[in-house]
Amino acid sequence: MARRAKPPRQPGGDQLVAKLRIAPQSRVRLLDAHASRSFRWSKGKAEECLARNLERLEELQYRMYADGRFGMLVVFQAVDGGGKDGTIRKVFTAFNPQGCRVTAFKAPSSEELRHDYLWRIHAAVPGRGEIGVFNRSHYEDVLVVRVNDLVPKTVWSKRYAQINAFEQMLHESGIRVVKILLQISKAEQKQRFLGRLRDPRKHWKFDAADLDKRRQWNAYRLAFEAMLGKCSTACAPWYVVPADRKWFRNLAVSEILRHELESLDLRWPKASMDLSRIHIT
Ligand code: AMP
Ligand code: MG
Repeated sequence: MARRAKPPRQPGGDQLVAKLRIAPQSRVRLLDAHASRSFRWSKGKAEECLARNLERLEELQYRMYADGRFGMLVVFQAVDGGGKDGTIRKVFTAFNPQGCRVTAFKAPSSEELRHDYLWRIHAAVPGRGEIGVFNRSHYEDVLVVRVNDLVPKTVWSKRYAQINAFEQMLHESGIRVVKILLQISKAEQKQRFLGRLRDPRKHWKFDAADLDKRRQWNAYRLAFEAMLGKCSTACAPWYVVPADRKWFRNLAVSEILRHELESLDLRWPKASMDLSRIHIT
């Protein structure tokens, strides 16, 4: 009897997360063709799984808060139009706002520029029990700063090792650092910019400086590749999430968060007193 070919199965859970994680010290090539990958997931399945993950994330956050030994910092980087805002809106709504804070990093103020580049970053790192989200981060200091020569190469080139040491220190203090690059293709960025031009509700988002950055696409690609290769470490991994398809992007980010929180072995602390002796009148 002829065997029917099994339908392809999408890589689930930890398998997908492993595929998206960058191995330490690897040579990374960011290909536009990879930005629309979906690893055999269909939109319908992805949306179902996302909904389940959001419920699970809420529970995991609650456990992390109760456990009190760990915090989590999730760093997002992407080119303009890459979907950082949309991802935060769609996925981080899973969390209780009491324990989750989002910080967006813009060009440094004159006061911030008087300090070292990690000063403002460190001040926004979450404490144990909390989830912190960075919309852009210290990685701008090896991205926009490198591409536009905002400081000499002798200064920015030392930052990869400085950042690794900083993140290792956070890890050793109980803060898990998870870094996600949302990867869109140049063609998709064009569509999203055109969408901003067409929709009056999005005109405020249109920034002429984004077009300058688009012209520097290749220089940014090289800077992203260097950042991924040098700063994906065992204790603070980088993930590259294909982000042309928003439904896949949201699913993948939720899977990464679930995986990272589940790997913490979170426990419910024991009561601080003998509860059997308590009588409520
Ligand atoms: P947006 O995320 O669209 O609000 O834009 C924020 C802008 O701030 C981007 O153009 C970033 O490149 C810029 N930015 C963020 N961090 C830095 C930094 N450390 N140095 C220079 N520019 C930065
Ligand atoms: Mg912008």
